[in-house]
Amino acid sequence: MNEVKNIVLLGRRNAGKSTLVNLLAGQDVAIVSPVAGTTTDPVKKRMEIKGLGPCNLIDTAGIDDEGEVGGMRSERSFKEADLADLALLLFTSNRFGEYERNLANYLKGRSVPFILVHGKEDLEPLDESLRMTLGDEFGCPIMNVSCKRVSDRDLMLGAIARMLSGESESKALVPKSLAGEGDRVILVCPIDRGAPEGRLILPQVKTLRALLDNKAIVTVAQPSELEKIFASGQDYKVVITDSQAFSEVSAAVPEGIPVGSFSILMARLKGPFGLFLESVKKIDSLKDGDHVLILESCTHRASCDDIGRVKIPAMLKKYTGKELLFDFVSGLDDVPHNRYSLAIQCGGCMATARQITSRVNSIAEKGVPVTNYGLAIAFAKGLFSDANFKAFLNLIAEK
Ligand code: SF4
Repeated sequence: MNEVKNIVLLGRRNAGKSTLVNLLAGQDVAIVSPVAGTTTDPVKKRMEIKGLGPCNLIDTAGIDDEGEVGGMRSERSFKEADLADLALLLFTSNRFGEYERNLANYLKGRSVPFILVHGKEDLEPLDESLRMTLGDEFGCPIMNVSCKRVSDRDLMLGAIARMLSGESESKALVPKSLAGEGDRVILVCPIDRGAPEGRLILPQVKTLRALLDNKAIVTVAQPSELEKIFASGQDYKVVITDSQAFSEVSAAVPEGIPVGSFSILMARLKGPFGLFLESVKKIDSLKDGDHVLILESCTHRASCDDIGRVKIPAMLKKYTGKELLFDFVSGLDDVPHNRYSLAIQCGGCMATARQITSRVNSIAEKGVPVTNYGLAIAFAKGLFSDANFKAFLNLIAEK
């Protein structure tokens, strides 16, 4: 399974957002009506976009919705915008007023990439001087679209794919400083009770693919095979393991070979890694009765040895020797309170960098330190004083 990108449609009531969702989806998923304010809660449609994989198209209520309830709906639209990987900001009749300008500046301020879409072009085409003004002001693509022209669907999907693929390529999962052409790498993938039947998990698959893209030479093995692998006398550049096998792997890897985890690579790719690294040290100052928040980016079914719900809490209690209290939040569920001494974000294999960074930053802004699963496990296992682990962190810090 792949991460699912969020494409959020924003604009005033009756700007044609629902009609555009239906055009892009190629079917009627949103209710279209000439009555302003027909869309109240966000409507989501999952679809495949060529070259991008699965995406959620999210139709939102108008940002100019009125009254107390309308204000709440409009707030919800901004919340969806926060988690967008790409926003489509619709306007019509060459009316780019205060609502649109505020929203465009809001997206810009949050580094959400966006396309300005001038809709209902068949009724009134976009004025060229407005196009130039907006281009200078926001530096984003501007499109003129008529939902009555079926060919506009391909134009829009192409523009969306270009914007999103540009962003996903901007950071590599495995930097060449860690493993480049001809470097030999060992991936340690334990096949234990927590491993899914008949397949590898997504971070393992993505790391393998990134290493192959870098033309590295990869050996994939279980922890129990490491001794035999090193006995062959072959030189290895780096070992990447599942976090849960850190202790066993570190004990088996000779000095001088960097050791890190899939989870740490994912954290570097998807989250504010500097914040994660700084926050992990807070584990040492946790006290009895402190609240720790576990942030899961999807609603997977937890097993009895679930890493976030069972293993990390047990590991932290053992390492600190304190009575810690844990809360668990999945997907986009609300955070119960802000009295957390630490929050720990999962590897986010099902979420995009924007979704994780936005979620993490909104919690960090409330003064809560936020780290990640892989770093928390490495810390609790004492790896921050291990030379091989420190060498791994140095290699991924290099640009
Ligand atoms: S909780 Fe996080 S790491 Fe686990 S499966 Fe979901 S997105 Fe992936």
